[in-house]
Amino acid sequence: MTDKIAGAGGVPLQPEALERIVQELPKVSLHCHLLGSVQPATVVDLAKKHSVDLGGHTAETLYDHGSYEDLGEFLRVLDVVGSVVRDVDDLYRVTYESLTLGGAAHRVLHREIQISPPGHGAVPYPRLLEGISAGMRDALIDTGITSSIVVGLCREDSPAAALQLVETVIEHRTDEVVGIGLDYAEVKGEPAQFAPAFMRAGEAGLRRTAHSETGPPRHIEVLLDELGCSRVDHGYHVVDDPRITERCVQEQIPFIATPVSSDIGRYSGSGDGSHRRIAQMVEAGLKVAIDSDDPPMFGTDPSHDFRALSLALGYGLEELARFTRNAVDACWLDESDKTSLRRRVEEGINALIRDDSLPAPDSLSGGTDSTHHQLNR
Ligand SMILES: [Zn+2]
Repeated sequence: MTDKIAGAGGVPLQPEALERIVQELPKVSLHCHLLGSVQPATVVDLAKKHSVDLGGHTAETLYDHGSYEDLGEFLRVLDVVGSVVRDVDDLYRVTYESLTLGGAAHRVLHREIQISPPGHGAVPYPRLLEGISAGMRDALIDTGITSSIVVGLCREDSPAAALQLVETVIEHRTDEVVGIGLDYAEVKGEPAQFAPAFMRAGEAGLRRTAHSETGPPRHIEVLLDELGCSRVDHGYHVVDDPRITERCVQEQIPFIATPVSSDIGRYSGSGDGSHRRIAQMVEAGLKVAIDSDDPPMFGTDPSHDFRALSLALGYGLEELARFTRNAVDACWLDESDKTSLRRRVEEGINALIRDDSLPAPDSLSGGTDSTHHQLNR
């Protein structure tokens, strides 16, 4: 099968059709880190501006995802990026570029940007917000992309430091900040210890998510029951526990998977390009959305994560559109904004369905069988 895309036993999509679909499908981005989305050329530019030595690295060599032996290796490169994003202008630039070139250009209509204040070292939180908010405003004006901010607590920090960050977020509360997250090395920070910080955030009306990429399924229940999370970043190991899986299906807990970064990092338990855990999650009936995590650092972008899943799992328009619809359900916009986002998403999906250059809707799916749902709902 040289000129076709191998499906999961279903009708394979022609490469042209797949490209059209992954580029044009409306997307809602809920798991993309600001620091992880800085283009390498921008890192090199900012390093020059601030006289930071990149150790001989160029834009071509900086993000060698083949070298991320473990999450620690990846985080060390991320620290380098954090070390050059130093002032309000830098934050404006990286936010604007992430939302336009790394977002709207791939038909991302809305993004909830994950930021990591501890990763920015000495930049005071209000200055962080100032630069990021300015970038968000101009990206909206220039491309129409809407966005908000999710503040990530660093699980390598102490629970007291995490609580202090939540207090800072509350003290400097703006409309753009809709929630908090929890990231960095999971092995260094079990989720339960951050319950006080998460409870405080909940009292202040902040929504909550957290990364659970390598942790056992019981951590998912800790996120839901002790941290008050309404969605989960990654969460692949949920499928190891049928009871917790069933609970998450019943409660329609959204999982925001990142196919390419998790596969390259081998954190998902596959690492062979099969994306088998994501397939298992979908087959189990879990509510899965996808995003790109740290796109340039893993050689991906919002369109490519859809492409990678389609190629590996035979997903066609129907399945790929479901990821976007799930992301709309999972996003933290208020109800009226969510309704208008949903309308724009459905318009985009319907435009693809009506596109004469694509196969007829019945054959748009690379999938197979009874898992098919109505395209229009
Ligand atoms: Zn992440």
